[in-house]
Amino acid sequence: MFNVTIDGKAGCGKSTLAEELSKRLDLKKFNTGAVYRGITCEYLNKYGEKLPNEEVIEEFLNNLELSVVFDDNNEQHIIVNGKDYTSRLREEIISNFVANIAPFDNLREKVREIQRTFAKNYNCIMEGRDIGTVVLPFAQCKLFITASNRVRAERRYEQLKGTENCPTVDELVAELDERDFKDINREHGALLPAEDSIIIDNSNETLEQTITRCVNIIQDIKNKSNLK
Ligand code: C5P
Repeated sequence: MFNVTIDGKAGCGKSTLAEELSKRLDLKKFNTGAVYRGITCEYLNKYGEKLPNEEVIEEFLNNLELSVVFDDNNEQHIIVNGKDYTSRLREEIISNFVANIAPFDNLREKVREIQRTFAKNYNCIMEGRDIGTVVLPFAQCKLFITASNRVRAERRYEQLKGTENCPTVDELVAELDERDFKDINREHGALLPAEDSIIIDNSNETLEQTITRCVNIIQDIKNKSNLK
């Protein structure tokens, strides 16, 4: 199978990019952040905002039924203990709490199994933080997406502008800094470019420019591999 990995910081456009690349290159898309977000929804449901420790996570995992399914429109759904959390994944509380849940390696192992089975079965594009380094180290094409903190915050602000309690750009910069710090400095699944990844800084590019650049890179790598 032909596997493309997309890793990078929060808010640098990975999801939109993966969505477009999957359509244009006929690759099935797997969004890893959505899986951790779904798990976080269930955690908050059970334990509220109590910060997790090893013991709590162990108990949580012993009662965790997790599946990732795709509907007829190829939309990914995260089913946790029988509940489809798809519509809640982008809530602010989830965005802010997920980095407390994602660092536990026994939990990541459960997600990894699902990810690796998926990549074995499909020509796919998988998006996350540690896909090129840990989850699919043998992927043929690895992209690492980055953009400056201010640019990422301004893009997020454009999406939130006009909504109730819309944060300021400075507040969004602070939130992103905190999430980046947690993602980069954790022991397991830390955000890091793989040695053989291609770094794409899209701070000064339009979405379309980044898509075109990535389509060319992926096609070039695919043509050079045996998988045409
Ligand atoms: O990409 P997104 O912002 O939806 O990811 C949500 C969170 O899921 C990240 O902040 C990170 O804590 C976690 N995550 C992870 N490993 C991945 C992808 C996401 O720990 N490969």
